[in-house]
Amino acid sequence: MEKHPVPTAHPADRLRHVAEARSAPPRPVLRGAARGEAPMRRIASSLLLGALVVTGPSKAQPPSKLLDMTYPFEDASVYWPTATPFRLTRVSFGPTPGGWWYASNDFTASEHGGTHADAPIHFAEGGRTMERIPLEEWIGPAVKVDVSAACAKDRDYMLTVADLKAWEERHGRIPKGAWVVMYTGHGTRAYPDPVAVLGTDRRGADAIPLLSFPGFSPEAADFLVKERSIRGIALDTPSIDRGRSPDFRVHQIICGADRLALENLAAADRLPAKGATLYVVPIPIRGGSGAPARVFAVLP
Ligand SMILES: [Zn+2]
Repeated sequence: MEKHPVPTAHPADRLRHVAEARSAPPRPVLRGAARGEAPMRRIASSLLLGALVVTGPSKAQPPSKLLDMTYPFEDASVYWPTATPFRLTRVSFGPTPGGWWYASNDFTASEHGGTHADAPIHFAEGGRTMERIPLEEWIGPAVKVDVSAACAKDRDYMLTVADLKAWEERHGRIPKGAWVVMYTGHGTRAYPDPVAVLGTDRRGADAIPLLSFPGFSPEAADFLVKERSIRGIALDTPSIDRGRSPDFRVHQIICGADRLALENLAAADRLPAKGATLYVVPIPIRGGSGAPARVFAVLP
């Protein structure tokens, strides 16, 4: 198995992202520099000008729009019924004897809950762990396959190869290094209501047979890793395998092919069918099989 089968962004693409990202908020940078308060910002703004000169945009570009696709982590966050849920424990919160304010908490949680990423080791023996996946591998073009109508009729719906091909008929071939986002509408509309999202609010092993929510079909996962060159798959439910899956075949296929996965994505309704770039910033847990992640899209 290749260690890094997914091509990283072309350097020119990266430069374009820099130019796009920088084109939105130049005013604060220039204001800070003009006041002479932040020499580093002057350097940053000259770098910005350098990037603009290199890419040479001849006309004004619209400002980039950021879409946060991350749910806040809280006690109500959706976790697998058998996983340790997110808990925040207050350690300090108030004035100290020395007179200053001090707030600090502990948190505990499974790697796999809330908006999070899966590493290949999750379902593939010898697969890569979180800290071994380079940052650039988490960034790529987002393809959104909207199957919310089918999922509204059948909450155990599985995205099919036909759904992927229908997307390609409308929008062109799935680009190299894409994040393929399945939009079910389920999590997006109901998160974090456990009955609506998971199919049950029971916890523990007894809840597993009650799980019911949509996911990818094993055939679609197989098609994406064999017939297309994807970075990973993602969706707005708690698992890339549907809730009723008895064997987590989709996880086995994706992790076995050294690809990545994202679960419990927020705001997938506002992601366009194509044209956005997805940025995933997971905690690089050493040895981790997954991790909470800040996920956002730069919209076209
Ligand atoms: Zn996971």
